[in-house]
Amino acid sequence: MDKLTVRDADVAGKRVFTRVDFNVPLEDGKVTDDSRIRAAIPTIHYLLTHGARVVLASHLGRPDGKVQDGLRLRPVAERLSQLLGRNVPVTGDALGIGTVDAVKRLRNGELLMLENLRFHAAEERNDPEFARQLADYAEVYVNDAFGTAHRAHASTVGVAQLLPAHAGFLMEREISMLSRLRDNPAHPFATVIGGAKVSGKLKVLDHLMAKVDVLVLGGGMANTFLLAQGKTVGKSLAEHDMVDEARRVLAAAEKAKVRVILPLDVVVAKEVTRGTEYKTIPAEKIPASWHIVDVGRATLDLMEEALRDAKTVFWNGPLGVFEIPSFAHGTRAIARYLATRADSGATVVVGGGDSVAAIQQQGMADRFTHISTGGGASLEFLEGRDLPGVSVLLDRPPTKGRSTGRASAKKAGSAKASDSKATAREPAAATGATAKSSTTKAPTSTASPSKAPKKVSTALAAGSSTSKASTAKVGETRPAVARAKG
Ligand code: ADP
Ligand code: MG
Repeated sequence: MDKLTVRDADVAGKRVFTRVDFNVPLEDGKVTDDSRIRAAIPTIHYLLTHGARVVLASHLGRPDGKVQDGLRLRPVAERLSQLLGRNVPVTGDALGIGTVDAVKRLRNGELLMLENLRFHAAEERNDPEFARQLADYAEVYVNDAFGTAHRAHASTVGVAQLLPAHAGFLMEREISMLSRLRDNPAHPFATVIGGAKVSGKLKVLDHLMAKVDVLVLGGGMANTFLLAQGKTVGKSLAEHDMVDEARRVLAAAEKAKVRVILPLDVVVAKEVTRGTEYKTIPAEKIPASWHIVDVGRATLDLMEEALRDAKTVFWNGPLGVFEIPSFAHGTRAIARYLATRADSGATVVVGGGDSVAAIQQQGMADRFTHISTGGGASLEFLEGRDLPGVSVLLDRPPTKGRSTGRASAKKAGSAKASDSKATAREPAAATGATAKSSTTKAPTSTASPSKAPKKVSTALAAGSSTSKASTAKVGETRPAVARAKG
């Protein structure tokens, strides 16, 4: 990867502002899905075991610049405490004298969590003064929040401009997996796009058209394509103002010789609710008073046939209203099928909150090559857009030898400690410097990012003096949402 990672930073004794994505679902003050918390643990472990003073920062929900007690990070910190086997204190506010003090009191190998950044409107505005106050907490910046990398906020961009900015392990893995898909996919390359709307995914469809061999369309967005083919869709979700765009996409596919698969048969329901009347019918002519809610068996057979030879598959968006169990068959079936493709060696990457949820419901996450933690971010990345939170991270200095590159990179992080913040990011200060590498690990190539979490777990198990109970947690730290296949 061409960005410096946490391995390249000199973090011992340094305060490290660590942006994580702990925007997790909560119910009754409890975290209902902790996969995002688990996914950040390798980076947190690494920092702690390398003597950093870790200042964790995240947003949670959309408080829109106001304090909302229901969106405090305490439940997240509680879950993280369980996973780490140690207490994780949360500050009362991201700013303020108490927080400044708490950060100052951190000792090597200790951590705390700042309260929800979005309690300050300045966060989403990327307010320079807010960014400066956050940057003052630390000497090094690490971003492990790929899910928010497509947003230019204070904690994703502003702070990163003021400190030497490095990618965490999760960020590194997301970038290297998705880059491979964007720049160098093995063919045949198929993509399965479902979900609610065409409008949000039009750009990615356009971009993928130049890359893929097979385009499988399902979910609500396929309805607009059925309209484009002159079919009727009854009361189904469809974007009538996008029909021309859909027609254009189909024409572009034909020109690019991309095989497009659209529903042949569909499940239609009287209402989009539980317990309603439903049936499977051909997609040719949907009666006026029915809603398309899922794909039918014939469609799934056709989709599976089209995906059979694919060496690379990217999937985003459920094929039906999977939140209602009767209409989840298509989504669950495609998830199962893609898992078998991954089992037999295809690269299968899934991105998107709802698609990932469907996979996790079936406990199949670890069979996939990569489960992206970012929905919007992964789509924007594949579109070829620069994500502001990624662009701002330090580039790996170009060097001939890989190991010297690493050594000088390491120096780039430590240069900051003595220099002013303004000059810390000058790569000139870094290149050519020799570095001692007593704590530098053997170079881990981006080709095997899966090593990172493992290595970190080992480091903790070997180097920690923590109790048996907390060491036992180490086994759980393999992120449920991120696993590489050879
Ligand atoms: P992801 O989060 O994986 O990117 P999206 O957010 O784009 O996926 O879409 C997920 C939503 O699409 C789900 O809430 C699902 O109910 C909805 N959906 C899928 N198929 C249909 C359909 N036929 N009609 C209405 N909504 C649908
Ligand atoms: Mg979604």
